[in-house]
Amino acid sequence: MSSIQKFIAAILPRRWVESLEAESRLWMVRCSCGCARSVWEMGGIRGKAAGYTRWFTKCPQCGQRSWHKVSRDPQATSPSHQT
Ligand SMILES: [Zn+2]
Repeated sequence: MSSIQKFIAAILPRRWVESLEAESRLWMVRCSCGCARSVWEMGGIRGKAAGYTRWFTKCPQCGQRSWHKVSRDPQATSPSHQT
């Protein structure tokens, strides 16, 4: 987990953290080259009320630092996938 994720985990009840993690995994950060990672994988938290739609970051696939589109992936709604 990233430091922000550890911080969230330390101050919030476990149930909240789990729902935040589940939500963050549904939000995908996409580079223009086609590479996509979840917000959670990138060390972020995407709660329902959070408001960013773009993220300036470096893409591991093409190596470019650019604005990535952040969008919720409608395909990734598998509820009981995690342990
Ligand atoms: Zn890329």
